[in-house]
Amino acid sequence: MSVDLDEEEVFEDVRERVDDPMRRLFAEYGRENAFQFVVGFISSIGARVLDLVPPLLLSIAVDAIFLDNKPYSLWLVPDAWLPSDRGAQLWLTVGIIAGAFIVGAAFHWTRNWGWNSFAQNIQHDVRTDTYDKMQRLNMEFFADKQTGELMSILSNDVNRLERFLNDGMNSFFRLSIMVIAIAVILLYTNWQLALVALGVVPLIAIFTKKFIDVIQPKYAEVRSSVGQLNSRLENNLGGIQVIKAANTESFESDRVDDVSEDYFDANWDAIDTRIKFFPGLRLLSGIGFVVTFVIGGLWVIGEPLGPLSGELEAGEFVLFILLTQRFIWPMAQFGQIINMYQRAHASSERIFGLMDTPSRIREEPDADPLVVGEGNVEFDDVSFGYDDSENIVEDITFDVDGGDTVALVGPTGAGKSTVMKLLLRMYDVDEGAIRIDGTDLREATIPSLRQALGYVSQETFLFYGTVQENIEYGTFGAETADVVEAAKMAEAHQFIQNLPEGYDTKVGERGVKLSGGQRQRIALARAILKDPDILVLDEATSDVDTETEMLIQRSLDKLTADRTTFAIAHRLSTIKDADKIVVLEDGKIVERGSHDDLLEADGLYAKLWAVQAGEIDELPEEFVERAARRRAQTEATDDD
Ligand code: ADP
Repeated sequence: MSVDLDEEEVFEDVRERVDDPMRRLFAEYGRENAFQFVVGFISSIGARVLDLVPPLLLSIAVDAIFLDNKPYSLWLVPDAWLPSDRGAQLWLTVGIIAGAFIVGAAFHWTRNWGWNSFAQNIQHDVRTDTYDKMQRLNMEFFADKQTGELMSILSNDVNRLERFLNDGMNSFFRLSIMVIAIAVILLYTNWQLALVALGVVPLIAIFTKKFIDVIQPKYAEVRSSVGQLNSRLENNLGGIQVIKAANTESFESDRVDDVSEDYFDANWDAIDTRIKFFPGLRLLSGIGFVVTFVIGGLWVIGEPLGPLSGELEAGEFVLFILLTQRFIWPMAQFGQIINMYQRAHASSERIFGLMDTPSRIREEPDADPLVVGEGNVEFDDVSFGYDDSENIVEDITFDVDGGDTVALVGPTGAGKSTVMKLLLRMYDVDEGAIRIDGTDLREATIPSLRQALGYVSQETFLFYGTVQENIEYGTFGAETADVVEAAKMAEAHQFIQNLPEGYDTKVGERGVKLSGGQRQRIALARAILKDPDILVLDEATSDVDTETEMLIQRSLDKLTADRTTFAIAHRLSTIKDADKIVVLEDGKIVERGSHDDLLEADGLYAKLWAVQAGEIDELPEEFVERAARRRAQTEATDDD
């Protein structure tokens, strides 16, 4: 699901481990971008202060120049420096205002530069670091977590951080400075009227808090319903062929209608609350404005009301009217900033949670690079289960002499691929050990192990890019001639040449669609080009037609002649010449030997061979029953 998942659901387990994620964010990522932060911070102050210059000067001009009821005096400037002529005073005032606009504009620019680059840099660093950590996690992690959850962290959560660091922090400093500066000016000008004008502030704070409390659960509801809607749409688009074939368009339309309506309802509920909040706020600030206007207005034309005392000049009154208006909105926006902060907090918890997830496959600190000599491989009493509840493979013991080919044979689900994944160290064995030329895999560095192994699996994945890039993947910088040679050995050259742009044709998710067999041949060419010490072919030619398979087989014979090779194949004819055949059933080795030995033994292998050779129609009842039992078991665990 590439959607905004509900915060509560995702990574609950890892979130708990993260203490004070925002502080960590600033400590780990803020420091490098401290310059941008300081520029943003200082410019925010500068821009805000300069914004207040025009109303301040206007108030002074009203009293000193237009009404002439006060001497002309500017804050922070000695009176002796000021002109006494009213015309000159007016020009000076206008000049300062114009200067404030120009310098203010420059500050606005540096402020946005500072905050934006601060946020963008951190966003970039956090995303690339998270991705880097994530792809080094072990396979169990990817099996457990939905791709959508991970995508959601890498995109939504990182974006939310950026939004807070940019808009949130920018607004926070801007508004805080504004509120403090205005409060100071008002209190300095006339503290009594200031108390009247600011009296509405606590009311606004309470009102905003109430609004946040009410709207937050509604937003959570919206997020969860948009998640459901998106996953339904994504699911349906993925399964469109099934929908058409099953003629269930109306049924699916109804289902989409339902989830869309849930989203509509949730959204409307939130909108309904939101659209009442802002008029409410306007009303409150209006009350504050009217009260200040009445009290201040009466004061200017006559006497101060009630306990108020002293003088209030018209210009001061104008200043109050101008500034109280500017004061109210920032107060309301604090609510929004708190909201952004909370979301950023939750997001950074998830991001650091992901970064802190330990990998079960760990390289020993004293691991040495694996040096493959002869290429002997030894499985020594290996047992392993994907989870703790049951062993998927048990007591696997066999060895392969360097340069030999061993075939793993057995029914689906017997554990053949699992054995190979253990050799690749996608998982670590629970018991026993796997050794290459006597070195336990766990004592070798992981990159050196993977470099020594070439792996072609049944599920061939092509990256978006050209055919050539896909063949070169992992052997970057190969000569084109070598790429073509590898493609020829994998029987892929012919069809690649017939593609619209040959080796430069784009394939993969958004590229030209290739058949399963063609993809497998590209994957095979990739392994051939890599020229590994040990080759693992896990149903590497299962999707290729029999004729092509025979052609590939010829090349493979050359390729595997002096190379330790593991082959898993359903079509037994392709592995019958292997030096050793190991037959697995239910995670255990049940037979081993050469093709001829095994036929003679007349066990599972001989039966499988007979079925494939067409000598008998079907497997004896006992095997079929066992297969059915196994299937049922697998399905039961899949349902869990
Ligand atoms: P084979 O290659 O012989 O068909 P596998 O090694 O793929 O068999 O699978 C052996 C068993 O392990 C099956 O029951 C399968 O359901 C289970 N299995 C395979 N991969 C996983 C996994 N990532 N997590 C949990 N169980 C798995």
